[in-house]
Amino acid sequence: MLSLYNTMTREKEEFTPMNPPFAGVYVCGPTVYGHSHLGHGKSYVSFDVLLRYLRYLEYKVRYVQNITDVGHLTDDADAGEDKLQKQARLEKLEPMEVAEKYTASYFRDMDLLGNLRPDISPRASGHIPEQIELVKTLFEKGHAYEAGGNVYFDVSSFPGYGRLSGRTADDQRTGTRVRSADDKRNPRDFALWKSAGEDHILQWNSPWGWGYPGWHLECSAMAMRYLGETIDIHGGGLENVFPHHECEIAQSTAATGKEFVRYWMHNNMVTVDGRKMGKSLGNFTLLRDLYQRWEPMVVRLYILRSHYRSPLDFSDEGLAGAKSGLERLISFKSRLGSPEKGSASEAVLDLVSRTETDFRKAMDDDLNTPGALASLFEYVRAGNILLEGELSEADKHQMTVLLDTLATDVLGVQLASESSGGSSEELCRILGELRGYLRKNKLFQEADKLRDDLSNAGFSVRDLPGGASEVTADL
Ligand SMILES: [Zn+2]
Repeated sequence: MLSLYNTMTREKEEFTPMNPPFAGVYVCGPTVYGHSHLGHGKSYVSFDVLLRYLRYLEYKVRYVQNITDVGHLTDDADAGEDKLQKQARLEKLEPMEVAEKYTASYFRDMDLLGNLRPDISPRASGHIPEQIELVKTLFEKGHAYEAGGNVYFDVSSFPGYGRLSGRTADDQRTGTRVRSADDKRNPRDFALWKSAGEDHILQWNSPWGWGYPGWHLECSAMAMRYLGETIDIHGGGLENVFPHHECEIAQSTAATGKEFVRYWMHNNMVTVDGRKMGKSLGNFTLLRDLYQRWEPMVVRLYILRSHYRSPLDFSDEGLAGAKSGLERLISFKSRLGSPEKGSASEAVLDLVSRTETDFRKAMDDDLNTPGALASLFEYVRAGNILLEGELSEADKHQMTVLLDTLATDVLGVQLASESSGGSSEELCRILGELRGYLRKNKLFQEADKLRDDLSNAGFSVRDLPGGASEVTADL
């Protein structure tokens, strides 16, 4: 049974979705005004593993991850300039060009890291009507007030504010910078809608005049739009607990009168010499730069070697360790080859079931990926010993299936048999097998077409005695 640490209750709890087998997951996505760094990589790999594991457990998951393209201000609260508008000025682009450019960059970096795409990636700028509706409801229910064209959430009207972060009203006051807008009744109040000056490019008409939504509003509006008023799991980085998630809870719960989120999950940060890696601190390493030195799968394995709730201290030794781990997995996979299905021996069935049990035990314990990896490497060790003896094709097949399921399907670590990537030897082997298969099954027309096509494309095909075929590249 999967248990997850719930930031709200500060306990590990058994995960039971509201409407099994369906499970709704919302994760705060990127603000698209720059390339992703390793900190983003850690966060989205962690939630990707959650998604993959839930699917392995046969839940039907809808995974929503937003794209913030408006309203996120440079001070991460209610003051400063819109991050996208500022970047647009620096790059002499339209804000929406900035959004497109860095959304594409984000997905490219995450694809390389092996993260599955969300089922829905809603843009804040594409959900302005939903956000305006939510503000209207908050007005009607007495949780919002207008001041100088801005609309604020009245925190004193919502007693649950501070429960997620454990911050008392005093902490919150001292935590709020004095720069906060002075038309607020209370420094803890936060913006739902900001009035826009003429220089603000992204603005929309609303019952309160021209303006744009406060940053927290989009997640409430889009999570509820796609996952309902109560959602199963909401994730994000630890730095989102306060104020972002606290504000989301206040807005959603005040509007619907229902519990907003059943399980809150937060991912810890990447540190550099003990300090948080972040854009504002200038100590970040972009994923695209890291990929020049380390294969994306090495970076993924490196992230998975620590628990998502632990900080990950950035080091080249750590990455080198992950690289040798990845090589061990890859060489085990290529030792197993591409065997055929059949019934496996007792010894292999026993190893496979023991490994799967240990792996699941670790993953069930709040997604303990270091523990899951330990069971996988123990499997490789034991499997390599078995490979020294006599193993049937069926045995190897059984072992390959388990490796592919746990390492690739659940943990998302792709095990290409050559680390050089896109190996032509591997391709030739597959094509040779295909021609052999076609001939064996007397599909001579297809087999000959494949041979002719290959020869036109610069490959030689040689049929070997016994029905197999060998393909080589004439390069
Ligand atoms: Zn959010």
